[in-house]
Amino acid sequence: FLNDKSAKVFVAGHRGLVGSAIVRKLQSLGFANLVLRSHAELDLTRQSDVEAFFAAEKPRYVILAAAKVGGIHANNTYPADFISINLQIQNNVIHSSFLHGVQKLLFLGSSCIYPKHAPQPIPESALLTGPLEPTNEWYAIAKIAGIKMCQAHRIQHSWDAISGMPTNLYGPNDNFHPENSHVLPALIRRFHEAKVSGAAEVVVWGSGSPLREFLHVDDLADGVVFLMDKYSGVEHLNVGSGKEVTIKELAELVKEVVGFQGKLVWDTSKPDGTPRKLMDSSKLLSLGWEPKISLKDGLVDTYKWYVQNHNV
Ligand code: GDP
Repeated sequence: FLNDKSAKVFVAGHRGLVGSAIVRKLQSLGFANLVLRSHAELDLTRQSDVEAFFAAEKPRYVILAAAKVGGIHANNTYPADFISINLQIQNNVIHSSFLHGVQKLLFLGSSCIYPKHAPQPIPESALLTGPLEPTNEWYAIAKIAGIKMCQAHRIQHSWDAISGMPTNLYGPNDNFHPENSHVLPALIRRFHEAKVSGAAEVVVWGSGSPLREFLHVDDLADGVVFLMDKYSGVEHLNVGSGKEVTIKELAELVKEVVGFQGKLVWDTSKPDGTPRKLMDSSKLLSLGWEPKISLKDGLVDTYKWYVQNHNV
């Protein structure tokens, strides 16, 4: 892949958190033939439009970073959207890629594919060994189907489709919606707004005790390029930082980075979600990849982006 920088690379979902980071990374490496379509230009849930796009463009590589994503509240509120939009997008893109001669495809999923009570850190082999966390099972079922689509095509057709499962991601172009976003951008926004308005306290959801692992999206983009270049296996691979914090520690760190002086209040009527979610990324690490951005540095970078881009 890294020797083929003039090839057409279709990055699906290039305006999102993950896709935009992959585009930045590929451009910085000298990939000069990226194929990008906004949602308005190409609706990936429409099968015939996707087929026509692949027939016309014939990309050599596809990185599938388009998905309907959201935090614990969004998943609970819009289950039908999460399962059906994601299944449609990935079925269309994976199958059209195969039909139109794409040389290699990388499908991106999420750590929530694993059972709620998976061993921690979670190895790839934990997939489908137990019930999922109910708050995000709709999204998870779609993503598990995507992994299986890639595996099935590799087994039946020897087609080079691989899957990477990132841990919780954050960075520029994240969704900072107050209710529907993930915890890290939600807290950046809430602490920032509290600082600006001079509020005395900030409400954080749950008990503060759940443990989460976070990876800066620029590290993920680096990992994606690494996988495209070096990995062609039937098994999906975890992509994590290996570092976990409690939600309480995260909230304290965001408070410090934003510079909010008031206090934290815990709303225990909100769900905690899964108690711990740390991925075992040793397989990827053993191939020679490693993350480089600390949570503190990544938060500083993301907060700077938020202030510059949200007009507040
Ligand atoms: P999850 O990792 O799939 O559970 O998704 P989230 O990022 O939405 O939530 C992670 C944890 O952060 C859960 O325990 C939430 O209850 C907690 N949390 C605390 N405050 C917030 C918030 O403002 N928004 C979100 N989404 N989660 C929060």
